[in-house]
Amino acid sequence: MALVQTVRGPVDGAELGPTLVHEHVFVLTADVQQNWPGEWGDEDARVDDAVAKLTALAQTGVRTIVDPTVVGLGRFIPRIARIAERVPLQIVVATGIYTYGDVPFFFRSRGRGLHPDLPEPMVDLFVQDLTEGIAGTGVRAAFLKCAVDEHGLTPDVERVLRAVAQAHHVTGAPVMVHTHPATRQGLAVRRVLDEEGVPAGVVMLAHSGDTQDADHLAQLAEAGFVLGMDRFGLETVASFEQRVDTVAELCRRGYAASMGLSHDTACYVDWAEPAARDWLPRWHYLHIHQDVLPALRERGVTQEQIDAMLVDTPRRWLEAGR
Ligand SMILES: [Zn+2]
Repeated sequence: MALVQTVRGPVDGAELGPTLVHEHVFVLTADVQQNWPGEWGDEDARVDDAVAKLTALAQTGVRTIVDPTVVGLGRFIPRIARIAERVPLQIVVATGIYTYGDVPFFFRSRGRGLHPDLPEPMVDLFVQDLTEGIAGTGVRAAFLKCAVDEHGLTPDVERVLRAVAQAHHVTGAPVMVHTHPATRQGLAVRRVLDEEGVPAGVVMLAHSGDTQDADHLAQLAEAGFVLGMDRFGLETVASFEQRVDTVAELCRRGYAASMGLSHDTACYVDWAEPAARDWLPRWHYLHIHQDVLPALRERGVTQEQIDAMLVDTPRRWLEAGR
């Protein structure tokens, strides 16, 4: 029996149910928040707002969200634990480092940052989060997360990716990599993880739905990767129709079991002015159930394929390596 760690404790994979594979609760710039907390405002009000939004999501039938908020995105597990206690939803959290370029200064002159023969300190920190718990909360991460964006494998991005691979080997934990499919960074991920001996089946390539290049995505699915079709509602990068058409085309080609669905949204992100959200009226937790699933069905996607994307594939990925 494969157990999957959630904020409220381990659950059997069968209990995960319909799962959105990539949702944040909050994305925050931690040291800005500590010093200029004005826009954030009242902590209790933010928690209440998250409880309300996640409770509404649970009413669609979603049972689990996978939250890849790691260091670099303002991960703060005590706040997530407070929210998880109050919502009829399982929250799965991650460990890792989110950067497109350089490692945080903390790591710059430690371990491999100091000398290539020294051990990589990130590995032990990631393993501790996965096996003992995060920052004394007792909440264990269930997967590893890092990013390769359009700048590709900078030395530090590659350093984090290889540390994630090593922590995978210690723990068996699945891996999620933020990618930039327009520049085909999935292939860079593939090269490094092949060298590190990490099987593609444990790896989700996030943001795969940002491209309409079905041939490229089919190639990654054939290699065994799970594709995160995970930014529904973020219509500045790809339109609603483009995102839906790409998922439908991959279903038509037989790859429903290689995809997970999600929005990559949050209750609050401090990366833009609050008014910027007005440009993205459908970038919220309910968009998939309200708009995307009906549009997929109109395009011939079957309930069996929807169940594969919402239930079976997220479960298989979260159980991978256990
Ligand atoms: Zn994200």
